This record gives sequence, C-alpha cells and structure tokens, in this order.
Amino acid sequence: MRYKNSEKIYEEAIKLIPGGVNSPVRAFKSVDKQYPIFIKRGEGAKIYDEDNNSYIDYICSWGPLILGHTNERVLKGVREAIELGSSFGLPTKKEVELAELICKAYPSIEMVRVTTSGTEATMAAIRVARAYTNRNKILKFEGCYHGHSDSLLVSSGSGLLTDGYQDSNGITEGVLKDTLVAKFGDIEQVRNYLKNKDVACVIMEPIPANMGVIKTSKRFLEEIREICTETGTVLIFDEVISGFRVAFGGAQEYFDIKPDITTLGKIIGGGYPVGAFGGKKEIMELIAPVGRVYHAGTLSGNPVAVRAGIETIKYLSENKDWLYKELENKVIYLTDKIEEFSEKYSVPIVINRVGSLFTIFFTRQKEINSLRDVIESDGENYSIYFNTLLDNGVVAPPSKFEAHFISIAHTQKELDKTLEVIEIAFKRIGERIER
Ligand SMILES: *Cc1c(COP(=O)(O)O)cnc(C)c1O
Repeated sequence: MRYKNSEKIYEEAIKLIPGGVNSPVRAFKSVDKQYPIFIKRGEGAKIYDEDNNSYIDYICSWGPLILGHTNERVLKGVREAIELGSSFGLPTKKEVELAELICKAYPSIEMVRVTTSGTEATMAAIRVARAYTNRNKILKFEGCYHGHSDSLLVSSGSGLLTDGYQDSNGITEGVLKDTLVAKFGDIEQVRNYLKNKDVACVIMEPIPANMGVIKTSKRFLEEIREICTETGTVLIFDEVISGFRVAFGGAQEYFDIKPDITTLGKIIGGGYPVGAFGGKKEIMELIAPVGRVYHAGTLSGNPVAVRAGIETIKYLSENKDWLYKELENKVIYLTDKIEEFSEKYSVPIVINRVGSLFTIFFTRQKEINSLRDVIESDGENYSIYFNTLLDNGVVAPPSKFEAHFISIAHTQKELDKTLEVIEIAFKRIGERIER
C-alpha cells in the first residue's frame, strides 16, 4: 500500500486536530482523497512522505520556497542564526537588514513592520488604514484571500471555496457590514463604493492567486489607483504571494503602479513564519510606539525566520537578472506541453499564467476571469489530474482554487518527468469525457 503510513497517522490526527490538519486545504478533501500525505522532508524540488514516496513539488509550501527545499544558502544562514539563540523579545540588527532589503526592493515602502504571518500583516495594514483615514469600511474583491482575520474572511476564496463555502461562521454582523465586496475587474462597482469617501481602504491581490490565478489588466489597477487617490482611500496591495514572485519588486513593479501600503509574507520568510506590512512614512508612523495604532508580536522579527528571509531575498537580488526569466521559462515549457495534451486528448482547459504562477482550469469556457468562472470549472477532472499526479510522484495543489508554484530547484529532468505524468492524467480525463 503506497500510502499506508500516512493513512495510519491520519487516523490518529483526526482524533487530535480538527480534520487532522492545521490548515484546511491540506486535508485533500476537494480532490476526493480520504486522507492527506504526511510529509517527512524536502530537498530541492522534491518532498518525501512518511511512506518514503517522493514527489516533485508544485506547492512549494504555497509559495515561500522559490529557491526549493533546503536551499544551501538559506540553510547555512538559519544554522548560524539558531546557534545564536532562538528569540530575545528585544530588537536585533538583522531585522534592520531585512527592512532595508524590503524597502530597497519596493520603492513604495518607506517603512516596514515585520509580523509572524501574512494574516497579521493584512490585519494590521487595515487597522492603520482605518486610523489614517478615520473611516470604518473596507473594500475587498470576491475570491481574493488576505488571511483569516475577521474583516477579511468575507468572500475570500482559497481554502473556504475548497471546502464549498465562501464566508466563515463566527464573524459578527458588525464586522461583516464594514466589509464591502466587489467583483474583481469591475471598476464601476469600485467607483460606486468609493464615491461617498467613507471607505478606509481597498485591499486587493494585484494578481489574484487564491481562486486559482486570475489575470489582471493594468488598466484596472491604474483606475483603482486613480479613484483611491481622488477619494482619499488607502490602496493596499496584498503581495503576500506576488511579492518577490512575479518579479523581484512584485506586482507593483510588474505593472508599475504604487500602492500606499503593501503586505508581504511567504517568500520573505524563506519557509519560516514571517509577514510584513509597509508603506508611506506618514501612514506607518501612526504605529506604536510612534503613534497610537497598536501592533505587536512576541515573535515578530524572530531572528531565525528573519535570517531565512534575508538569505532568500539576497539570493533573489543577486540573481534576479536571470532567475525570474528562468522560472517563467520553466512554466512556459510546462504549460505549452500541457496545451498540446489538451489538444491531443480533447480535454478542454484554460491555463492562466502570470510570471511563474499558473493554474490549469478544466473548463469549456474560453476565459477564466472571475470567481464565478472558477467555480464553474470542473472539479472532478481536476481531481483526476491531482490524483494521477500524486500516484505517480508529482504533487499539484490539492484544490482547483489554487496556483501551482515552481522553484529554481526544479530541473529539466524533473519537468520532463512531470510532463510524462501529466500526459497520463490528460489521457484519463479524455477517456472520461468521451464516456
Ligand atoms: C497566504 C496569504 C495570506 C496569509 O498569509 P499567512 O501567512 O497564511 O497568514 C494573505 N494574503 C495572501 C494574498 C496570501 O496568499
């Protein structure tokens, strides 16, 4: 039995942890599997489970591992940091170094605060936007995920959609009423919501990647930027995924549009728990102890996590001239071949790709541009795709609402092996469609 140990661990896990997992999408529920694989270790582009099966990894910890698992440089930095102590509850020089690296890469960020997760970063970003504008309401977009704080858990894609719902229970009506939701791409709706000048901020993934990848038009972002400026609304780009991923300077460099506040996470922790939010000095100086907006954290700026982030960002910085192009080329290589399989086996798909992020939607629709389109795409075919890959040593995201992530550690040989397996999956899906 290929997954014997994982199954056994799962049986224990569900008695002790809700659903057996510490984050819902890991449970593999939406891809028709009874239990997830439990991972023992990773190396390069591969992960290994408790049954010693190996997989070429297209989750990459949901984005942070742009350099692959156990990257030598990151590992060396982390080892050094660990030896110096775990955490002090007092500031360290390395936190300043990380702040400097972030501010240099993101000219819109004049000052930055480090947190322990992306969730905390967006939560604090909204708080400071409210304080800055003296307004209560916030505007977000359908299918954009910004972590699991109350006011952002409305129509928020990803793990919620995977489990078949959009909003979480346990959130008060008061909170819900202050969160406005617009359709991604619908500029008139944005204009309408903002015209009364009572919305504190617009928060958005400039390139949505938590309902699968959705392409953004530069014009849409430009118009939002203009409307926010006109109405005194703070524009927050949540670049927790897109930051250091679609380009070194994130989506704001990719589209050349400056938000007022940026949130970061994932890559800036190199696989360790980190988030950050930053922006204009006049906004950031509202934060305690300079101003009266509270934000704190016992482990904020943890030295080990910060060191992993520094090494990751430095590596990216030193190699950015070829690295982002190469990541994108790897993905183009994969997706071009997948398009061929789609023809060959008569499996209708749409692939959305931005930089090195991509999602394969099994659908007869011509384009996938909104949450509605994504929901209508075929989950059963995605499930066959996922399970065929898993059984043959490739792990894709366990939900049709997620992006595939790739790292520089993925070798040509691993890409070709991946394609061999994807072809098997497409053949199966083609046969299912025929019947
Ligand atoms: C992952 C993610 C978050 C939340 O980050 P956590 O570290 O999981 O709390 C927020 N925003 C976006 C866009 C994300 O992808």
